[in-house]
Amino acid sequence: MNKLFSQLLASSRSNTSNTGPRIQQRRGVEIKSARELKIMRKASKIVATVLKEINERVEPGMSTGDLDQYAERRIKEMGAMPSFKGYHGFPASICASINNEVVHGIPSAQRIIRNGDLLKVDTGAFYDGYHGDSCITICVGDVSEQAKKLSVVAEESLFAGLSQIKANNTLLDVAGAIEDHVKKNNFSVVEDYTGHGVGKNLHEEPSVFNFRTNDLPNITLRSGMTLAVEPILNAGDKSCRTLSDRWTVVTRDGGLSAQWEHTILVTNDGCEILTERK
Ligand code: MG
Ligand code: MG
Repeated sequence: MNKLFSQLLASSRSNTSNTGPRIQQRRGVEIKSARELKIMRKASKIVATVLKEINERVEPGMSTGDLDQYAERRIKEMGAMPSFKGYHGFPASICASINNEVVHGIPSAQRIIRNGDLLKVDTGAFYDGYHGDSCITICVGDVSEQAKKLSVVAEESLFAGLSQIKANNTLLDVAGAIEDHVKKNNFSVVEDYTGHGVGKNLHEEPSVFNFRTNDLPNITLRSGMTLAVEPILNAGDKSCRTLSDRWTVVTRDGGLSAQWEHTILVTNDGCEILTERK
């Protein structure tokens, strides 16, 4: 169950045993209508607002459970429901992953955020039948130079990927731009998780991979596709493992990890960032 959740929540790269993405690809990638896009802009705006507010409020001494409660309240106040809560049994409205935690950290009142932490907050909102999905990395207080650089390069790599998004480019164009930027900075790209299509479902086809591969379908982008692009960078090795809570994914070598994510709309000459934080 957790494996399924992991595949869907961050849309897993295919392990040899996982043929899900290939099967999904045969069904084709949805093109959203103008009506659907109008709703997705609203769902994504709610996500962007929540993340912006969390970024402004987080400080040492708060718990990740505090952030989760805040996010859930704000998502509901804005007329949406948390996309993550109950998704394959996930118990919260945000994923809060600290330092060596890569993805799917479970928020808790016992987990106190400390000065120097590298905190990833990922959340989604379900509004009028459609999802928005975004993740930010927050440098809490005085973080190490390495943590700061990892977060900056991770965000830059997201935008390097987004710079390749336009109709008639392919997913490999996006992945190559991300991989090149990460390697240039001597960090590694996590390959166990990828981005995904997003819309009526939190996770739709295709798998938006962040590294060059022939194992996943390299589709051509079309105007009207909505994708969540979400590179994950490790300071050390790319390898990850899942903790005994069956959710939290950590780096195998104990090194830091950072992630940034936007939900975007593919257009003829570029992309519209639906979860942009203004
Ligand atoms: Mg996502
Ligand atoms: Mg996300």
